[in-house]
Amino acid sequence: MADLTINLAGIKSPNPFWVASGPPSNTAYQCHRAFEAGWGGVVWKTIGDPIVNVSSRYSALNVGTTRMVGFNNIELISDRSIETNFREISEVKKRWPDRAVIASLMVDTRERWHDFMKRSADSGADGVELNFGCPHGMCERGMGSAVGQQPSVTEKIVSWVMEAATIPVIVKLTPNITDVVYAARAARKGRADAISLINTINSITQVNLDNLVPEPFVGGLSTHGGYCGPAVKPIALNMVQSCAADPDVRLPISGIGGIANWRDAAEFIALGSTSVQVCTAIMHYGFRIVEDMIEGLDDYLDSKGLKSVEELVGKASPTLQKWETLDLHYQRVARINYDKCIGCNLCYIACEDGAHQCIDLVEPNGYGLGPGRVPGKAIPKVREEDCVGCNLCSLVCPVDECITMVSLSNGEKMSWSDYQEKVARGEMKPIPPHPSGCWMLVLGAFLFMSPSLDPCPVWFGGEWQRMTSLPTSPVHNPSTGDVIAEAPLCGPKEVDAAVEAAAAAFPAWMETPPVERARIFFKFKSLLEENFEDLVHSNTREHGKTLTESRGDVKRGIEMVEFACGIPSLLMGESLENIARGIDCDAIRRPLGVCAGITPFNFPAMVPLWMYPVAIVCGNTFVLKPSEKVPLTAVKIAKLLEKAGLPKGVLNIVHGGRECVDALLTHPKVKAISFVGSTPIAKYIYETGAKHGKRVQSNGGAKNFVLLMPDADVDNSVRGVIEAAFGCAGERCMAGSTAVVVGGAEKTVLPTLVEATRGIKVGRTDCDQQPDMGAVITRQHRDRVVQLIEVGLKEGAKAPADGRGVKVSDAPHGFFVGATILDQVEHGMTVAKEEIFGPVLNVMHVEDLDAAIELANRSPYGNGASIFTRSGKAAREFKHRVRCGMVGINIGVPASMAWFPFNGWNDSFFGDLHMQGKEGVQFFTQQKVTTTRWFSFGEGDIWHREAKT
Ligand code: NAD
Repeated sequence: MADLTINLAGIKSPNPFWVASGPPSNTAYQCHRAFEAGWGGVVWKTIGDPIVNVSSRYSALNVGTTRMVGFNNIELISDRSIETNFREISEVKKRWPDRAVIASLMVDTRERWHDFMKRSADSGADGVELNFGCPHGMCERGMGSAVGQQPSVTEKIVSWVMEAATIPVIVKLTPNITDVVYAARAARKGRADAISLINTINSITQVNLDNLVPEPFVGGLSTHGGYCGPAVKPIALNMVQSCAADPDVRLPISGIGGIANWRDAAEFIALGSTSVQVCTAIMHYGFRIVEDMIEGLDDYLDSKGLKSVEELVGKASPTLQKWETLDLHYQRVARINYDKCIGCNLCYIACEDGAHQCIDLVEPNGYGLGPGRVPGKAIPKVREEDCVGCNLCSLVCPVDECITMVSLSNGEKMSWSDYQEKVARGEMKPIPPHPSGCWMLVLGAFLFMSPSLDPCPVWFGGEWQRMTSLPTSPVHNPSTGDVIAEAPLCGPKEVDAAVEAAAAAFPAWMETPPVERARIFFKFKSLLEENFEDLVHSNTREHGKTLTESRGDVKRGIEMVEFACGIPSLLMGESLENIARGIDCDAIRRPLGVCAGITPFNFPAMVPLWMYPVAIVCGNTFVLKPSEKVPLTAVKIAKLLEKAGLPKGVLNIVHGGRECVDALLTHPKVKAISFVGSTPIAKYIYETGAKHGKRVQSNGGAKNFVLLMPDADVDNSVRGVIEAAFGCAGERCMAGSTAVVVGGAEKTVLPTLVEATRGIKVGRTDCDQQPDMGAVITRQHRDRVVQLIEVGLKEGAKAPADGRGVKVSDAPHGFFVGATILDQVEHGMTVAKEEIFGPVLNVMHVEDLDAAIELANRSPYGNGASIFTRSGKAAREFKHRVRCGMVGINIGVPASMAWFPFNGWNDSFFGDLHMQGKEGVQFFTQQKVTTTRWFSFGEGDIWHREAKT
């Protein structure tokens, strides 16, 4: 049990609950009753020169069926004689020596204050409360709020009182003032021992529309009254905390204002009150409410491990800070518990009309059914990525814990003050002005879309979710090194949810006519084109490649969608009549079921689009796991497909690394796996997927050779090699990473190539001014590339162009390596074997074409190889003999486009059927061959001559 006793400026009471000065503390009789119920103290109804009251006196604000949410009174101070009041105080104090009895006083002159202070002390009162707050009746007489509204007058009168004070003095403050802190400071300057607040607020609660007189009605008139009750609590809490936190006040506080239960009391105490005073709730429910207040506060303190009320005083106050110190990156989103949702859709209406339009009404299938909800009726669904966390939906929701607000971690904190400082120091660009002048929205957009804050949701069964409880992997802007998002690392549970969603969507999707499936992709293609530049910038921001390169990336992806739109004709089957007499045979293509795709970082837009458009138009459903290094563009693109009308669950997205991939590889409901990545992983994917009975197409890494023949056109071939070696900073599986200089080309082509390489400008790509080449994907990868250059040099290579020390002045933390040539590389050297996957071109020298082809064919990989020559014969020889799947004749990057297979050989591909083109369709479908024979006409076939006979 916690210690509930308190000591406010020397006034002790067994608990912090005091009856406030007002109608319930008017007489000894009431005070006895109060103490019998358990109240710790009483502030006697204000004593002064007796007055005459009017009738009537009270009015209330009712809200719905709740009565007295606000309460207004025009009653004045005690109408009983001064002698009676002091005599009764004396009697009460004698009978209840352990309780606090405080005399509330209101008089005018210095002499009378001195007199009243003496009489109070003589009566045995533990202290006095100076009523400087009464807003009606007494201020007209130069007392009450007339004193409290003038800090200088407050200070003066408090100093008079203190001249005669022998017991503690509390000054009761009026809220009818611009800033209550000034009044509190005046009380302190006058040497008061404590303050209490708030007194009542000037108010009119209602107008009677029959007689057009406000309440309370006094003979056809009314007057402004003092407002109190639950409605004033927020105002009172604010004022209490302001005084408690002010360094110039530093006085104990007795809190007043709408307190009705232990929770209210605990809130006042947590914001700085030592005792709390209650009036309206007693007028509403009687003195016995204190029993619950005592018990509730006691339990609460115990539950918090607090040993006394004192330990709670002011505990919440430091968390209240100025707006400019709040973390602008912090985010909350609303989550709906569908097992509790009753389908009233109030949240939807509130959000749509009154807030930020981030709740949709969706089909109810697949969500829980809350009590009373009509099956089949649309239900609300929060679009978390758009939710600003305003709380409105959870506030209007009539069901407890149906809508909860969930905090999302956004990494680094930044307040408005931090922002201003950063701008002043030049570390951040100022927020651009907004045409509507709504700078808050601009700030929100700026910050939440800024590098550290991009959401990276998963997508299961049509629902975007943020997965905040999972561990994450950082996504960088390689140009700056900033973390721009955190990709959640999904495990088997999340993969299972995604696969189940895909499996649930499969039967209906399979039955959807192929042309209807394709129509969605026509719309998707339009949306991709409409949002082209947005996707390009997103691509560049998370990958680091130049905007031009990103345009290529997105464009190649769109070509895959164009190809997919034409898939219905590729799904047409084959048939042959009379494979034997009277027997026909046909083969049709059917989808497989749930397919999965795992993609690399280097083409954030294009590679995922190699896979799911084909799979989905073929009738499959799909789970995509984009690279955890570049998940954002894939998410953006998927949102466009959602917008195009793809049914829920047909495409799903998970994020993660090995654990996530393994869960896909081993999931019994996944029928096929498409993978693109490095060779060791591609091999692992192929082996593991196959072992678990799945079809696998698995593209691996590469080391592609570009032959420079002595007769090659110098300018064109140098341009081709530069593009092949350094385009996308060399992070391409089709990068021409080894130039084979044949014979005399050493003298013709090589010098120009070196010179051109030295001229390549490296820089940040996330801005208007575009360099020739951007950063590589991560700091670790940059370090690996640099390390491999060093190994190459150690093993005997020369570096006529060396990009190791490159500096980018406006992006010192970007992951940059300059364009590098390693000349004199020999077969067998580490750099000749390893896929460097960076802006490093190996140069090897051979005597003739045969030696060059032999060299290329010694590579374990087999993606691409090119030749630059003017000789048709040399080109034909090369095309015929080189052992790889994509050949370029005077083309540096012979990557096949959507209608042809992306055709790696050897260790660049594991599987049978490649991605893209007809092979892609074959991979994502299985054939059904039906052989048909009919013996005779049936009985019903009476229209046929044979049947009639
Ligand atoms: P990566 O192999 O590291 O990763 C590819 C995917 O595999 C990612 O989604 C990643 O999360 C996952 N992965 C990584 N380690 C894994 C593990 N141990 N177990 C299971 N899954 C794992 O490749 P990357 O660095 O993202 O991409 C670059 C590589 O991709 C290069 O080797 C490049 O040549 C190759 N690539 C090949 C093609 C092609 O068509 N042949 C195209 C593009 C890229």
